[in-house]
Amino acid sequence: MTLAMQAPGAMANGFDAATAGDLPDEMQQLIARRARVLGPAYRLFYREPLHIVRGKGVWLEDAQGRRYLDLYNNVASVGHAHPAVLDAIDRQARQLNTHTRYLHETILDCAEAILGTMPEALANIMFTCTGSEANDLALRVAWHRTGAKGVIVTTNAYHGVTSVVSEISPSLGAGVPRGDHVRIVPAPQGAGDVGAAFAAGVEAAIADLQASGHGVAALICDTIFSSDGVYADPPGFLADAVAAVRAAGGLFIADEVQPGFARTGAAMWGFQRHGLVPDIVTMGKPMGNGQPVAAMAIQPDVLADFGAKARYFNTFGGSPVACAAALAVLGVIRDEGLMENSATLGAYLADGLRGIAKTSAILGDVRGAGLFVGVDVETDGQPDGPLAARLVSDLRDRGVLISATGPDGNVLKIRPPLCIGRAEIDHFLAVIAPLVTS
Ligand code: PMP
Repeated sequence: MTLAMQAPGAMANGFDAATAGDLPDEMQQLIARRARVLGPAYRLFYREPLHIVRGKGVWLEDAQGRRYLDLYNNVASVGHAHPAVLDAIDRQARQLNTHTRYLHETILDCAEAILGTMPEALANIMFTCTGSEANDLALRVAWHRTGAKGVIVTTNAYHGVTSVVSEISPSLGAGVPRGDHVRIVPAPQGAGDVGAAFAAGVEAAIADLQASGHGVAALICDTIFSSDGVYADPPGFLADAVAAVRAAGGLFIADEVQPGFARTGAAMWGFQRHGLVPDIVTMGKPMGNGQPVAAMAIQPDVLADFGAKARYFNTFGGSPVACAAALAVLGVIRDEGLMENSATLGAYLADGLRGIAKTSAILGDVRGAGLFVGVDVETDGQPDGPLAARLVSDLRDRGVLISATGPDGNVLKIRPPLCIGRAEIDHFLAVIAPLVTS
């Protein structure tokens, strides 16, 4: 069953209210209270939702004092409650927290530090609070720059929650309308020449957008294709599609909200694995290790006319505290060698899972880059989302947190904080093996 066939807005691995009666009274009360005040649009993870009260490094603790190994949360990317990030936030908050309309070194230090990790052509950066806002701004700039409206995204893409970016996020399901100006293309997957197949899809979308009069403003890709099911290889497969979009006058927007900040191991940014220099790069999630800070990096000539005509101010985006957090995150990635850890331990994790998959009837392909690993869950070689959801919940019951993704909800999504060690990965492998090899 594909997610699109489930209830509107259904989520792989989501809590089902129909089973709430089996839960402890205290939890049922919290769930009911939450539904009363937060309304119906939110979803909870897991068959038995989690009530987490603290975190440290790669471990979380629930209200009963039970510990969980966190192999899911890529926001606290340098580790939950990292002292260097907390100290930086604390120090700056006690001194001053204003906004980008005043001169402030921390904002500029942060801007320079992030741009310093990118190709030289990406020389301007604008701050937002969320990845959605960064993508929203990127689209406004792309529309202004190209004079066209058409946007190309992958089948199960997710780019955020504003009205503009929800229209380019087909993974939100049939209940959230896609814009007329949006074309979807198959995710880069399957046997054969992935790059050529992906480019062929993009070329067909370009032709359709041109025929419809929308023209081509942008191709936007999450460069690890997380919600499509995690597709990283072979490096370079994006190049032909990006060339086709540029030849049609469009821009390439790399959505680095998931793969950015060293997640993929070999590089700071996912687009670097493809040997590309995007016109625009958006980022968020791990940027402040939980402090709301996100951004759009851009080639100055792409931004110039938009910037001259459209005044930009984002009250909290790029505040000194937000920037202090982001600077601290970059410092921790560097000082603790987390990009190297992501590469080494990501390979160790994927190898361990491949070893288990060999003797498992339900685990298929294991893929990813660095500490972002996807594993197909299948029955008789066919995607099995409900089985993946059960596996995710069984792992949660055994104290290990992961999730599931992809259009069929059957791809295990494993992306721990980057500070994870070998012993913790061994623990995960020891817990999952008996669940998938009986
Ligand atoms: N782009 C991608 C690829 C994402 O995964 C997300 C968040 N899951 C967003 C954009 C939106 O980010 P935010 O939730 O910070 O608005």
